Amino acid sequence: MDKHAFDELKTTGKLPSPSGIALRIMEISRKEDVSVPELAKVVQADPALTGRLVKFANSAMAGPRRPVVAAADAIRMLGIGTVRQLALGFSVLGQHRAGMCRSFDYPGFWSRSLASAIGANALCMRTRVASADEAFTCGLLLRVGTLALASLYPEGYGQLLANGGSTPESLLKYEREQLSTDHVELTAALLEEWMLPRIFVNAVYHHEEPQNGQFPEGSREAALCGILHLAAEIGVFCTASDPDRKRMLPDMVFSAARIGVDADALSLLMDKVVADWKEWGQVLEVATSDVAPFHTIAEAASNSDGKSDGPPVLTLVPGGQADRPAATPAPQNPDGMRVLVVDDDKAITLLVSRILTEQGHTVTVASDGKEALRAAMHEHPQLIVCDWVMPEMDGVAFCRALRETQEGRHMYFLLLTGVEKEDSLVEAFEAGVDDFVGKPVRAKVLLARLRAGQRVIRLQQEAARDSQSLRRFATELAVANRRLRQAALTDSLTGLPNRRYAMERLEQEWSAAARNQRTFSVMMVDIDRFKAVNDAFGHETGDQMLRQVALALRKAARSEDVICRLGGEEFLVLSPDTPLAAALRLADRLRQSVGAASPNPAASKIPLSVSIGVAERLPTMHKYDEMLKAADEVLYHAKRLGGNRVQSAGTSAGGQGLPPGTNAPAPSRF
Ligand code: GH3
Ligand code: MG
Ligand code: MG
Repeated sequence: MDKHAFDELKTTGKLPSPSGIALRIMEISRKEDVSVPELAKVVQADPALTGRLVKFANSAMAGPRRPVVAAADAIRMLGIGTVRQLALGFSVLGQHRAGMCRSFDYPGFWSRSLASAIGANALCMRTRVASADEAFTCGLLLRVGTLALASLYPEGYGQLLANGGSTPESLLKYEREQLSTDHVELTAALLEEWMLPRIFVNAVYHHEEPQNGQFPEGSREAALCGILHLAAEIGVFCTASDPDRKRMLPDMVFSAARIGVDADALSLLMDKVVADWKEWGQVLEVATSDVAPFHTIAEAASNSDGKSDGPPVLTLVPGGQADRPAATPAPQNPDGMRVLVVDDDKAITLLVSRILTEQGHTVTVASDGKEALRAAMHEHPQLIVCDWVMPEMDGVAFCRALRETQEGRHMYFLLLTGVEKEDSLVEAFEAGVDDFVGKPVRAKVLLARLRAGQRVIRLQQEAARDSQSLRRFATELAVANRRLRQAALTDSLTGLPNRRYAMERLEQEWSAAARNQRTFSVMMVDIDRFKAVNDAFGHETGDQMLRQVALALRKAARSEDVICRLGGEEFLVLSPDTPLAAALRLADRLRQSVGAASPNPAASKIPLSVSIGVAERLPTMHKYDEMLKAADEVLYHAKRLGGNRVQSAGTSAGGQGLPPGTNAPAPSRF
């Protein structure tokens, strides 16, 4: 897609984009000398992103690595480039879970994209063709162009997908016919905009039809393109109905074989991909559905011998709804929390778990501090109920370690304790414990403390949500506003401020002058016989002359003068703090500067000149319109006297041999 067309789409403000924080991460991570703590500071401004990066660093998707708990460690483990891309992917996902296009299936889109992401990651991990981390983001954004089209054309795009989307080729054809662009082009343009490595962008661009990519056989590009092709199929496969899964299976086996993955390996890989898809679906709040083990689908497919009317011989996970993605089940109690219960005594964990589950909370159990720390990073509990005395790492040490992590800082920590001596409790509170419950645990007391904790958590969440979304909103608004304002106030032909700007500024300068009793002059500048230039040499030449005049005016003006194009061949010059005599001298300099500008060779027979009407703010004037009108009227007078001259109420100077500032006989009209 050519740069110009893409820039035009960008100015609509409707293209998918990452959040303010992610943009900031992308921006600073590109600096060569960015430090990990510096980047970590920005990442931590978004707690959800931090949690997801840490989880990614600790997951199998990042390969075997030492477990990490803090953002900075995650960044060190993953590398700055990967963090940039993950932040991008997660953030675009977070920002576009829903949208304007009513017939576009946003949840389905992300469900499919997430499966592709995990597929691409697993395939890269296996084949080592490219960085598996980067492949994850690429997979996630593999079809971001369709999302873009949905927000660019909210009325019709969903319909078009439904009508034309039966095969990839027909969809592309439809898009090109009706929208004069297509999702593949847009995807590539967006990925390029977001600075993904070129090899990925190329592979994404050709992944729907790898044979068109013309990558050398056996090259890295060809392999990556093949991987993304299969990743796309994995996305469709995971979100398809059972009969469709069965039907597309031979294609997938074939695509896998092309990148050197045999059927058995594919089967193993797919089961892992599905498990990861569901796990990450929960983390990223993306819908997923049950998928039967790959080998049973394969058997069913070979039993029915590829005939779609054969009996469905699929073994499905009990209760699974393979036909449509099931949303992650919500806890029954809307106030239910994620609670981590830690005790080396099984009887206590059992008891506490039961009390909590009955109240609709979701419980995870750990039996010592170390295990608890891992569980806390993994499950992100909102509240922790923890025994004090335990082997390995006791409750207070666990709390201290937890408080050193970014995520663990806000988890509400309830300590179970038999020791209630003052000194030890002080130690516990200093380690970061929020409250305690005495042993033996009584349900009533535990629940009362829990409710107190819940109130604190809710307040914290509200505060965090408010400040985060406010911050994001403000950043995005600022960026969008700056761009819009810039575009709305500039004349595209000459690059000068336009009429709208001129009027705003005129009003400001007028008020400032009135308030401070300062002088203020304006000039109306109009090109002489410009219509003749257009008629004789065409509009192009006319445009070129307009640019030339703009340049000549700008060159001769002082830095405090504001030169605007009002439209057509008319310009307005605002000169604050300038009395009439000085304004007249300036006007004549402008007139001469235009006269000296080298005319277009084609138009050289026509002398380039302007007429200028100058007016000063007078105490008798009530509004700036009156000053503008005065300037306009004297301009008209200058034209009647033959053009190429400066005229003001009571004064004239210029082209007819009068030195600047010289008084001429007062024009009769004034
Ligand atoms: P005068 O000396 O009395 O000012 O005569 P004029 O021909 O300059 O003035 P008139 O207002 O009759 O014509 C202005 C012309 O400017 C008419 C229009 O074709 C031309 N024009 C207006 N905007 C543009 C533009 O953006 N580009 C070009 N090339 N021509 C323009
Ligand atoms: Mg004119
Ligand atoms: Mg005119």
